[in-house]
Amino acid sequence: MLRTNDRGMERVWWMKVNTVPGRGYPRDWETMGGGWDASGQLVRGVRPAAQDYGGIGELPYEEVFYGGKGTSVHLAPKVVPSWGPNWEEDTGAGEYPNSYFFYVPRLCNHCWNPSCAAACEKGAITKDDQGIVTIDQSACSDCVEPACVEACPYKEITYDEVRRVAWKCDLCAARLADGIAPACIRQCPGRAIWIGRLDEEDGPVAQLVGRWKVALPLHAEWGTGPHVYYIPPLAPAAFGSGGEVDPARSRIPLDELRRLFGAGVDGALETLHRERAQRRTGSSELMDLLIAPRWQTLLGPWPKDPSEVRPEA
Ligand code: SF4
Repeated sequence: MLRTNDRGMERVWWMKVNTVPGRGYPRDWETMGGGWDASGQLVRGVRPAAQDYGGIGELPYEEVFYGGKGTSVHLAPKVVPSWGPNWEEDTGAGEYPNSYFFYVPRLCNHCWNPSCAAACEKGAITKDDQGIVTIDQSACSDCVEPACVEACPYKEITYDEVRRVAWKCDLCAARLADGIAPACIRQCPGRAIWIGRLDEEDGPVAQLVGRWKVALPLHAEWGTGPHVYYIPPLAPAAFGSGGEVDPARSRIPLDELRRLFGAGVDGALETLHRERAQRRTGSSELMDLLIAPRWQTLLGPWPKDPSEVRPEA
């Protein structure tokens, strides 16, 4: 069985959490192109170079643990790294005391119009009737020019140079088929992720996206119709020049949020601030939805416990 620490899998991350502002992972992924242009033409984009993924390379496990050299050798990278996943974690930007950062978790968006699929000449990437975009690695194998990596504007596909195949998040399709929500959603201790269908009007996802309009796609201008939606962060109020709190100004510049989530972020923030204030003295359906006191509401129509379905696992 293939393991995630096997050779070739070094750059395969199903989800990565970027600190924003920052260059992200792979480095400068937002500038690499892909998706669809305004006239509906596929934008090829570029494939990140090895140094954009970075990493610490191989560590001398054998020598340290089994080489009989005692404490004279250490688990240190042979080449000092200059980039890697989470390289900029919690760095942020801004002038003290108005410094700021926030997190943007990134995974495959299971796009409505996936440019990765359109670019694959082998037809190895398809979108099923559930909306899940998957890679058939038997069709993809021995690919030497992974156009899918170039065409995905989110750089959510990674190329495994050992097996010559592409990898990406498949939304835990095998778990969904058994009625179990994806692992990231079920295991997130912060209750930060929901899954659901947009056409299920009473479901939390449809409510957050369609009714309250507080969940927005990332870089919708890239034209792929991303199906991962983000609730923009509410930052503490900024300090004024005299050190006083300025409640009208957020520490996170609005332009930064508009750049990521589009113009709809203004209305989303207004709704979130209003409902939060209302919840402090009374009730708010939206805040109760976001607090998710019953964590099972995160799981949408896939509420089964893995141990029910696979007791032997
Ligand atoms: Fe394809 Fe996922 Fe990239 Fe969308 S985000 S283009 S579905 S790899």
